[in-house]
Amino acid sequence: MTDLSAQLARVAPRGVAWAGLREVREVTRAAMVRDGLPERAATRESHGVLCEVLVDGAFGYAATGARDDAGLRLAMERALSHARASAPLAVHRFDERARPPSRGVYRSPSVRSRALEGGVFDWLVGLSRRLKAGAEIGRTTAAVFAVDVTSRQVSTSGADVTQETFHLSTDLSATAVRGAVVQRRTDAGPLGRSHQLGAEALGDPAFEERAARVGEEALLLLDADECPTDTRTLLLAPDQMMLQIHESIGHPLELDRILGDERNYAGSSFVRLVDVGALQYGSPLLTVTFDPTLPAENASYGFDDVGAPATREVIIDRGRLVRLLGGVESQLRAGVAGVASQRASSWNRAAIDRMANLNLEPGASTARELVAGTRRGVYMEANRSWSIDDRRENFQFGCELGRLVVDGELGPIVRNPNYRGRALDFWRGLSGVGDRSTFEIFGTPTCGKGEPNQAIRVGHASPLCRFEGVSVFGGAS
Ligand SMILES: [Zn+2]
Repeated sequence: MTDLSAQLARVAPRGVAWAGLREVREVTRAAMVRDGLPERAATRESHGVLCEVLVDGAFGYAATGARDDAGLRLAMERALSHARASAPLAVHRFDERARPPSRGVYRSPSVRSRALEGGVFDWLVGLSRRLKAGAEIGRTTAAVFAVDVTSRQVSTSGADVTQETFHLSTDLSATAVRGAVVQRRTDAGPLGRSHQLGAEALGDPAFEERAARVGEEALLLLDADECPTDTRTLLLAPDQMMLQIHESIGHPLELDRILGDERNYAGSSFVRLVDVGALQYGSPLLTVTFDPTLPAENASYGFDDVGAPATREVIIDRGRLVRLLGGVESQLRAGVAGVASQRASSWNRAAIDRMANLNLEPGASTARELVAGTRRGVYMEANRSWSIDDRRENFQFGCELGRLVVDGELGPIVRNPNYRGRALDFWRGLSGVGDRSTFEIFGTPTCGKGEPNQAIRVGHASPLCRFEGVSVFGGAS
């Protein structure tokens, strides 16, 4: 990368309250094996700069892939004209406080191996063999995506932030077919696993074990009964808790949705500004944190994309809503506390309120205790389908695999397990939270929001959790 701060000094327009540059270079390497056959190896690079100016209390943006001075000057002129045009229509007049003058460096803790090494296809073919656990496995997929992101932000108020992160996503699936019965099993749901890890993590033998389990369980599901339809206790594995937290805590607590910005597209929220500090969101066992500090979690960082220093914050404290997921612009508009979560999916997008790492904190129960305390229940893992209204209140989720729980013991596997509920009723029914031995970290690169759309990386960690009085049902949904 060039010396961005020297470039800013040359290209910043005169007479503006503030100007900034955010350069992002992202290299994605992908390898996929389908049905045991190497199918795709691709490398994609995206590299450009977002130019931002603040004029008359309004921000203007323009992005460019032409990173020389001439390209940046042209983009700055466009940003300036956008800011001048939008200033008379602005809902809020911003000042420099919306762009903290932070200085610092953040690097993924694990960047030892920055590229997929040779042999990745052999590794994927080996996993595919494990996925094909029997003749009735009709299709297998094993894929890995390695993303290398370098970004730098500089501003006329003195910000200078460099961040380097390395993200590894894996996707393993096996589909079992017998006549009209089709059962697909994956490693952690259709979105797979995403972590901030180096490619050295691919040597972890846990991948082999999980591939074998995915294949074997796809076959077991062919013989399983349908999930019963009634109201009972529900135990959710961390790989389904990930989506439950994302959809029914993360999205409704995004401050820009509450302010109405996303009403036309991603939707609004059932949560109101006056609920902060007052709303009992869940049972006293529910504590949720915004935590950008866990080393391997997908959305750990030192600063968000407007330069706010990222710190761990409690969002729901023993059931009570205490803070929202809003970056500095939304905090200034709404007059409430938030988090460092104003983020952009790349150099060609403006930063908006996002989730980052949003985690449910571990409790005190072992997995055995959670099951032993359940008289009539069902355990579910790995998301298969989801549906939630645009205020993020009523939801319905399907999972890949269920197991009945009868009189404190795990019973037989059931297929096509689903459950539905209302966000607050559901979280208030939280009756047990697993301890650290049940706690797992997951993530996805594809949380979608914003116009134009921005697919962004998020992380969610959770222990095993137990909920009372949940409506469950069978059938493919
Ligand atoms: Zn999302």
